[in-house]
Amino acid sequence: MSDTPAASADSAPETRAPDAQAPAEKRDFIRQIVREDLAQGRHQGVRTRFPPEPNGYLHIGHAKAICLDFGVAAEFGGVCNLRLDDTNPAKEDPEFVAAIQDDVRWLGFDWANLRHASDYFDMLYLAAEKLVKQGDAFVCDLSAEQVREYRGTLTEPGRNSPWRERSVEENLDLLRRMRAGEFPDGARTLRAKIDMASGNINLRDPALYRIKHVEHQNTGNAWPIYPMYDFAHSLSDAVEGITHSLCTLEFEDHRPLYDWCVEKVDLVGHPELLQPLLDKGFPREADRPRQIEFSRLNINYTVMSKRKLTTLVTEGLVEGWDDPRMYTLQGLRRRGYTPASLRLLVDRVGISKQNSVIDFSVLEGCLRDDLDASAPRRMAVIDPLKLVLTNLPEDHAESLTFANHPKDEAAGTRQVPFSRELWIEREDFAEVPPKGWKRLVPGGEVRLRGAGIIKCEEVIKDGDGRIVALHGTLDPESRPGMEGANRKIKGTIHWVDAKAGVAAEIRLFDRLFSVAKPDDESEGKTYRDYLNPESKRVVAGFVEPAAAQAAPEQSFQFERTGYFVADRRDHTPDKPVFNRSVTLRDTWAAQA
Ligand code: ATP
Ligand code: MG
Repeated sequence: MSDTPAASADSAPETRAPDAQAPAEKRDFIRQIVREDLAQGRHQGVRTRFPPEPNGYLHIGHAKAICLDFGVAAEFGGVCNLRLDDTNPAKEDPEFVAAIQDDVRWLGFDWANLRHASDYFDMLYLAAEKLVKQGDAFVCDLSAEQVREYRGTLTEPGRNSPWRERSVEENLDLLRRMRAGEFPDGARTLRAKIDMASGNINLRDPALYRIKHVEHQNTGNAWPIYPMYDFAHSLSDAVEGITHSLCTLEFEDHRPLYDWCVEKVDLVGHPELLQPLLDKGFPREADRPRQIEFSRLNINYTVMSKRKLTTLVTEGLVEGWDDPRMYTLQGLRRRGYTPASLRLLVDRVGISKQNSVIDFSVLEGCLRDDLDASAPRRMAVIDPLKLVLTNLPEDHAESLTFANHPKDEAAGTRQVPFSRELWIEREDFAEVPPKGWKRLVPGGEVRLRGAGIIKCEEVIKDGDGRIVALHGTLDPESRPGMEGANRKIKGTIHWVDAKAGVAAEIRLFDRLFSVAKPDDESEGKTYRDYLNPESKRVVAGFVEPAAAQAAPEQSFQFERTGYFVADRRDHTPDKPVFNRSVTLRDTWAAQA
């Protein structure tokens, strides 16, 4: 959007999270400031807010802001509000509002109050009249283009608007008529009277209100004028009693204007401005907030602007906001990212004022670390090849006991069916093995995970010479618990019982972009040109019954294959659908 500054980050990727060595107690500069403020008695308690604009779905960058805003409040016994920054009526959509709330809760946080910037429109208008009466704001008739001409540049001061010296009476009259809807869009603005020569362009008599005859999702047609971001944001913070207003670095240059608004309006000293809110039943809780900036989360191989994520959806380049390849929180969730893995990412990355780009492997590493500890193990075959154990009777049926987790006995056990016909992974067999091969070859032996040692006796091919099945024998002395089970064998492979296994759709996802900097347009290309054609592959596999029974969103490690999640929307026990969340190892690092 146009009112808020754009962010950029251009440094080399960080493969090691900057704060990796930090002690469990979080010691970043923001928490230091909060600790000090409380120790000095500057505030009675901590209040923060997370203020998304409801013009799109939240993305992984927002996870950093959410964890910080809600996390700091919780750690210091304070509260955090969710405030929908809905000052820009044209762009907002209730679908986004619902998704934002869903995402914040999913990440594990809850808000003290759900607020809208539009809740404060009456108060903001009274504040605007107060500024006019104090001689701190004026109604300006310059067009948008003229305002730009008068503004000056980074090296040249601006010029005062010819309307700057209007009398208080005239300004008040015009502001009231703006509010009454007498003027067309863009005819006038209310501007702060600060300093057209300021080195900080944000202080060159910035607009506080603009005329916009547009219906608003919450206030309907009550307002033909809408407050500008800096004015609304600072005073929304003040009226909610926010003590620490945490935001990203691109707002640093706006801080003097933020402070100016808070000071000149002085909600704490002018409780009469709060009357419209008290009348609506809001509590009295104004404070003098302090804005503190931190660096954005940037991750290579991703795009993180709402605008670009929106384009991917509207142009059909992905399959919706929650496409598992998207870097929206909804997409990551559907991909199998857990709330704990994203909180871990934010902790590992840390909070600082240093702009940096985090390597994608840090994100994937957080998911692996979380799922390694928490995800039950299952067996699934994603490229099935039939193995027939010819020395077992046709009706052989067994149920083997498997641990759900190798390092966590409390995770319990499950039963895995085993019979004469099995599925194994096509890539676990090689007719002509490469050097160092440890898996199955003609005439060779391999251990079937948890079942015994088998020998490949015969390779069955179709008319085109394609391998369609293997015939083999199970060593009866190698069954679980037997002496022969400990016989030394080089390779162990996973398998799924062919009779009891359930056919499953398995979606193999990979990075959406094939280059580290999809935002880089220097080659005359855009992020659209860098979409990874291999980012989604769908295969037909088989899973053991205990995997098919999963609830949607249940994560597993499919042994030797990767971490997978039962698709949130499409999975059912009869027709299982699993998404690959992340491979077991970083295959991209191996390529590079
Ligand atoms: P985008 O630039 O992607 O459209 P935005 O900054 O416009 O996002 P907002 O809804 O205004 O989105 O953001 C809500 C809050 O989230 C703000 O406080 C903003 O600073 C923070 N935020 C947005 N992107 C990031 C990011 N990449 N890292 C950390 N915080 C972020
Ligand atoms: Mg923004």
